[in-house]
Amino acid sequence: MKVYDSVLDAVGDTPMVRIRRVARELPAEIFAKLEFMNPGGSVKDRLVRYLLERYEEAGALTPETVLVENSSGNTGAALSMAAAVRGIGCVVTIPDKMSPEKIARMRAFGTKVVVAPTAVPAEAPESYYSQARRIAEETPGAIYPDQYNNPLNAAAHYASTGPEIWEQTGGRIDAFVCGIGTGGTISGVGRYLKERDPSIRVIGVDPEGSVFHDQFHHGRLSTPHVYQVEGIGEDYLVEAVDFSVIDDIIRVDDRSSFLTARRLVREEGLLCGGSSGAAMWGALQVADRFPGGRIVVLLPDSGNMYRSKFLDDAWMVRHGHLAAPTAATPQAMAA
Ligand code: PMP
Repeated sequence: MKVYDSVLDAVGDTPMVRIRRVARELPAEIFAKLEFMNPGGSVKDRLVRYLLERYEEAGALTPETVLVENSSGNTGAALSMAAAVRGIGCVVTIPDKMSPEKIARMRAFGTKVVVAPTAVPAEAPESYYSQARRIAEETPGAIYPDQYNNPLNAAAHYASTGPEIWEQTGGRIDAFVCGIGTGGTISGVGRYLKERDPSIRVIGVDPEGSVFHDQFHHGRLSTPHVYQVEGIGEDYLVEAVDFSVIDDIIRVDDRSSFLTARRLVREEGLLCGGSSGAAMWGALQVADRFPGGRIVVLLPDSGNMYRSKFLDDAWMVRHGHLAAPTAATPQAMAA
């Protein structure tokens, strides 16, 4: 029989797919690592499976355990899925800019979701970080992973995502391109790949409005502002980012992220999220640095979570990312 004990055992071993039309005429090959194939819908399933294994080893999980976390919605979904499997509680705080699909998904698993304002500093009491910390302090049996400041975050990707990429490419990889949210993915994968082959370039992608780009290139924090792409970028410097394994950080705007994600959906059949578009846009920018080479791009989550946002033409028009349809365009004809 080929049967898993629980859905958590089905996390990881995601496929890698060659990008054909979007990468046409580029001097480098581009391969996408499809993290939306994880059962909870994102790369964050790996972190949560790894965390639960560690908590279990330490004897920290009891029937009274309540998982409490601040999340842009994917770690929250993975925790919600895990809590459902274990029959334990889960509370997630999320900024209000995140998609209604993400909030509904967590609630479907039985999680208590607390929606916090996006446009407040991290240290404000009403921020999603502060609220998660407070709820964790006040909840008996709470475990607060605090993914932004937890070394297990990068360790999870060092243990699973990195080795998979190495194996799937047979070690023939010139660059790894990845968005930075908590920084767990880029730090863990980057460290693993560089230990195997120090010549591999690790390139981060950071949205306009986030602080990582300026910190990396100029050693100073820029003033953050709200942007639309979800799951990448931060408004303060988080512990989980290991700048020592990052060779470059590319800045991307919302429009380029969304338009590239829509191309991945329509031209490659990859139903991915906006941060996948951001990462792919970054890879397209750096492809000519690697003539004849091979670039792996990580696509963190599924387009299912953004059907009411960038995958909706009317939403794109409303936010100025697409021109309004005229009578002659297929969009108008379909409407
Ligand atoms: N994209 C999406 C959609 C995410 O939810 C996240 C996680 N915040 C990331 C990218 C970034 O991953 P990481 O936190 O490992 O940097």
